[in-house]
Amino acid sequence: MPTTPPPARPAPPGSAISVRDLRKSYGRNEVLRGVTFDVAPSEVLCVLGPSGSGKSTMLKCLNLLETPTAGSVVVGGVTLTDPGVDIDAARTRIGMVFQHFNLFGHLSALDNVTLALRHVKKVSKAEAEEIGHSQLKRLGLGHVARHRPANLSGGQQQRVAIARSLAMRPEVMLFDEATSALDPELVKEVLAVMRELAGSGMTMVVVTHEIGFAREAADRVIFMDEGLIAEDGDARELLDHPPGTRFREFLAQVL
Ligand code: ADP
Ligand code: MG
Repeated sequence: MPTTPPPARPAPPGSAISVRDLRKSYGRNEVLRGVTFDVAPSEVLCVLGPSGSGKSTMLKCLNLLETPTAGSVVVGGVTLTDPGVDIDAARTRIGMVFQHFNLFGHLSALDNVTLALRHVKKVSKAEAEEIGHSQLKRLGLGHVARHRPANLSGGQQQRVAIARSLAMRPEVMLFDEATSALDPELVKEVLAVMRELAGSGMTMVVVTHEIGFAREAADRVIFMDEGLIAEDGDARELLDHPPGTRFREFLAQVL
């Protein structure tokens, strides 16, 4: 049985993300049953857990792609769960990368990256293209800026999706199994980009089954089980000395 959630402690001042007693139900199915955690600025938090434990739902509640049933989410000092909050403005501060990249097939890599800059942030075409080029270059994609997604590998497409998020200059980046849809030989190049981003001081919440990435790049790991956080601690310590039986069983399956 999963453990009961820890009592809600006050958020440390200056947290990049603070989640308190987050709950989400679909009908009678309570998928998140009281999730509480904080992420410090520049911290990299990896979220592990079996399929169906609520990882994606939790991540989507962090930028209100899903509306929490109860609880609070604070990102960069703004309480997203307050009524009347400007969700669109808040979302531009939170980048999200999914398993499936969802690029526009009829647009070049560069146009995919500049689209939201131009239409959401109202940046001029010239400035958007300058930002777009520099993000693509940073992710090793300078030479394919004019290519359409169909002419890119899966790893390149996912890197374009990451560049698209970064172009908006988010304060935090959320990754939901960003490498799960990729062929094994393409996983590395995307993890390398994520590692570089972690090293650059970006605040990140990363749902992944890549335990190697969690061990090397994460500061902290949480293990979710049946809608609750069952473990929360220092990444290496938790992974090298997994405390709970459920966590040990999970690691044995994914390693
Ligand atoms: P994970 O990402 O850990 O695999 P999810 O957050 O996707 O878990 O799902 C947790 C549970 O919530 C599952 O039982 C899933 O069926 C349910 N669920 C997720 N999204 C929806 C939805 N839109 N409607 C109904 N049930 C959902
Ligand atoms: Mg998921």
